[in-house]
Amino acid sequence: MLVQVALPVPLYRVFDYSLPADMLASPDRLMPSIGSRVEVSFGRQTLIGIVIAHVSEDESCVPVNKIKPINKCLDADPILDPNMLKLAYWLARYYHYPLGDVLAVILPSLVRQGKPLDLLITHWRILPHITDDDFRANAKKQKQQFDMLKLHGERGASEDVLLLEGMQRAFLKTLEDKGLIERYIQTKQSPSPVKLAKMPLDLNDEQKLAVDAIVAAHKSEIYTGFLLNGITGSGKTEVYLQAMQAVLEAGKQVLILVPEIGLTPQTRARFASRFAAHIVLLHSGLTDTHRLQGWQDCRTGHAQIIIGTRSAVLYPFAALGLIVVDEAHDGSYKQQDTLRYHAADVALYRGLQHNIPVILGTATPSLEHLKLVEDGKLVECQLLTRPGNAKPATMQLIDARLQSTHQQAQHDGARYDTGLTDSMIGAIKQTLEAGDQVLVFLNRRGYAPVLLCEACGWQADCPRCDAHLTVHYNSLAQRSGYSGSSYLKCHHCDWQAYIPTVCPDCGSQNLDAKGMGTTRLSENLHAIFANPQTSKVIYPIIQIDRDTTRRKDSWENIYQQINQGNPAILVGTQMMAKGHHFPNVTLVCLPNADRGFLSADFRSPEHTAQLMIQVAGRAGRGDKAGRVLIQTLQPDNELLLKLVKDGYLSFARELLQERKMMGLPPHSYAALIRCEGKTLAATTQALKDAIAHLPSRHNLAVLGPIDAPMSKKNSRYHAQLLLLAKDRQQLHLVLHQWWQPVLALPSAKYLKLTLDIDPVGW
Ligand code: ADP
Ligand code: ZN
Ligand code: ZN
Repeated sequence: MLVQVALPVPLYRVFDYSLPADMLASPDRLMPSIGSRVEVSFGRQTLIGIVIAHVSEDESCVPVNKIKPINKCLDADPILDPNMLKLAYWLARYYHYPLGDVLAVILPSLVRQGKPLDLLITHWRILPHITDDDFRANAKKQKQQFDMLKLHGERGASEDVLLLEGMQRAFLKTLEDKGLIERYIQTKQSPSPVKLAKMPLDLNDEQKLAVDAIVAAHKSEIYTGFLLNGITGSGKTEVYLQAMQAVLEAGKQVLILVPEIGLTPQTRARFASRFAAHIVLLHSGLTDTHRLQGWQDCRTGHAQIIIGTRSAVLYPFAALGLIVVDEAHDGSYKQQDTLRYHAADVALYRGLQHNIPVILGTATPSLEHLKLVEDGKLVECQLLTRPGNAKPATMQLIDARLQSTHQQAQHDGARYDTGLTDSMIGAIKQTLEAGDQVLVFLNRRGYAPVLLCEACGWQADCPRCDAHLTVHYNSLAQRSGYSGSSYLKCHHCDWQAYIPTVCPDCGSQNLDAKGMGTTRLSENLHAIFANPQTSKVIYPIIQIDRDTTRRKDSWENIYQQINQGNPAILVGTQMMAKGHHFPNVTLVCLPNADRGFLSADFRSPEHTAQLMIQVAGRAGRGDKAGRVLIQTLQPDNELLLKLVKDGYLSFARELLQERKMMGLPPHSYAALIRCEGKTLAATTQALKDAIAHLPSRHNLAVLGPIDAPMSKKNSRYHAQLLLLAKDRQQLHLVLHQWWQPVLALPSAKYLKLTLDIDPVGW
């Protein structure tokens, strides 16, 4: 007998290996189990792969004398169960990605490296009879480390926790050699059944309908996909919680997927305050050992509630009972590299696989999900009201063509354009005076998006990308003599440069930062609302974007400051749009959010509207009514009017109708081929050759090759090709025949070709 092994190599095939002599000689002659890891020689490398089948020598297409034996088996039992292997096969087929590479994406890195799965549970503790007197006076550093361990009490702590705290492995070893401490393996006890920590709320009728439907699906053990379509603040979380309760009480696990940004401690707290349960958080900031620990906890069933970002949908679960995808429309669910999966799609597949309900919750469903409702593939549950007194915010347009934007005198006496109309500034003032908070949304960080020479038109561009450099500048810091915060930076490749004092082309000193980012907007608001010389009351201006929240605890501090509830202006990027609950924000201002309605990307109106509604949803979440002001230069734009007057759903349904007429996704199915290389000519040529290899009879629309939206990025050139099909099967049939030969084309040799199924942008 032979074993078939999937290896982490970019080849669309698996490999046969025989058993080593000692294994064949042993009396029980056990085959390595399917789903377990083996170490094998591959060319000159040693690789770790997963056994996916047992085959006989006759079934193998490799001559017997060419077959090498495996080096060793790493697991006695499978580490991937049949369901996980089926998931891997499905991912490989649907995304046209090599099986071995799919498995490499699924497995945590320590598992890929062949480490034992229970490696982490090594704990260290101080031997019971040891006291402080057992130290010689000169072993200061050892004593220090000993004291650190002592803080953990008699059971000590796991090695990875200790290392994280700054202990050193060498010292642990020394202390062990001296007979002061010992290592031990903690056997995990099965977690106790989940208990309610707090009473559930009384549901309103809409919530009750949703919970009943989900619980019924859970009880009948039939897969059902739900679109929980609830306006912001309608209490979707309470629906999740009460549906979870039934599932957890049945002893099943619940997986909750959240977008990257929401993963603050608040996310955990929402669930921990309701259930006394073993909750595991899975996100990109975990160390390798923590990730493996989480993986193991999910696989063994120790984890009862699992909260994770995108990749958590690929974890193994012992007894999965429910999947919740919160903010299911969010772009972060689409992996944009290697295996380009969409976590919501994978969640639906896994629901089907495990016969469990899956909830896609959002206030702004994607057109894909609305189409699935139309097709009868998702059950829609609507929440149209906010519980209690909270009312959805009213939306209002400000015609920025009719009134000029407010000019504000700055410290140097010059007048600056604030970019905000007088009526918007008036509304901000009124809100602050009423003791409430204001959120001003601007989805552009930095000071200004362009540095321009007024004399010759030169612009500061990134030498490596087709992009302007963003001006980062902080005049408050400048005035206090700190210049480190002024520089030009490319937001695509992180290239940085000094801000020139004269134009490099014409020598003019007339360089001007054009446009407005969050820093500049904050400064402008500062000049109006926080200037001790002109304003009676000083209001805090809190800037919230990736630049101000980079430090580990800064977001926490900002969050606390806002939640104290004092009047303040929050200036934020899309970081602010998602899921946060600030009850004192009653006014949301969008000075230029509607620009996306003009973009060339056909998906832009959908994404712009989602963002606007999410941001608007921050207003009026407490008992006070909320207001949203949208400043626009295109007040007649039909889409914008539809969104403001009729709400997101009618807007989205109209867009969906438009897509149908134009044959665009989700009314057609897309695959995007991207090609990256050193020259644009080479990438375009490879795609032309690829087109020539398409089967002669196919029903696909072929668009391209064209330059990618940003064709030069990080000194590499990108071209792309789009395939559109009326029918999903047709598309995949062509791809199955075509894609692997395309990768082998001579012109593709020094290029990077990638295939993106159901791409979200092109
Ligand atoms: P969403 O996630 O839909 O935006 P949340 O789940 O954050 O909304 O709910 C908004 C607020 O409404 C929360 O403060 C929540 O505690 C409250 N809430 C939800 N359901 C109820 C209910 N049935 N009765 C009273 N308050 C509720
Ligand atoms: Zn110039
Ligand atoms: Zn760049």
